[in-house]
Amino acid sequence: MRTPDRREVLRAALAGGAALAIPAALKAQEAGFALPKLPYAFDALEPHIDAATMEIHWGRHHKAYVDNLNKALAGKDDWLKKPITAILKSINDVPATIRQAVINNGGGHHNHTLFWESMAPKAGGEPAGPLAKAIDSAFGSFAKFQEKLTAAGLTRFGSGWAWLVADDQGKLDVISTANQDSPLMMTPALTPLVGVDVWEHAYYLKYQNKRVDYLAAWFKTVDWKVVAERHAKAGK
Ligand code: MN
Repeated sequence: MRTPDRREVLRAALAGGAALAIPAALKAQEAGFALPKLPYAFDALEPHIDAATMEIHWGRHHKAYVDNLNKALAGKDDWLKKPITAILKSINDVPATIRQAVINNGGGHHNHTLFWESMAPKAGGEPAGPLAKAIDSAFGSFAKFQEKLTAAGLTRFGSGWAWLVADDQGKLDVISTANQDSPLMMTPALTPLVGVDVWEHAYYLKYQNKRVDYLAAWFKTVDWKVVAERHAKAGK
């Protein structure tokens, strides 16, 4: 038996297993997608988002989307080499037998990556600059936009997301998507600028059935500078 490399040893240790015979399906992940590091500590968004929710949401839910995306695409190197955004934009070209798995897990991977990056400690407030102007022009005011996004999150029955999106002309809208569907999968594709996860796993530990309280708290975590950078790139 060859000597396992460092990643294999680490992976086996994390899995709690002594055996270092790594299954082929796991080795394929090295060419695939990886769980991105959280840009802050689990408790950094307290009191708005609690540390236990962050730890489980990132370490188990997001990790499962990444693992299952890699499983769905195992052996399909052409697809594994593409950025996740390119896969989602051409979702109808993904082989039919694995398409739903890629929608669920590829959507889940990208949606959560955007979600973590859109939040920050000591954030919230309102955007400035061109994004603020675009929000005023599309919705009337930031307060009206906030009402619209909150309503989209509240009326999403079951699991899904509420989004601020831009079309290919840079025009803004608020939409919601079911499950892990991404705005990038729509025809034509919409660019997600910021989204809020309204799956119960995103808030139930702290907020139970009070999704409206979670949505209000989430607004206090939004890093509008990140959203403004996405807006500046949209439609280009
Ligand atoms: Mn989630």
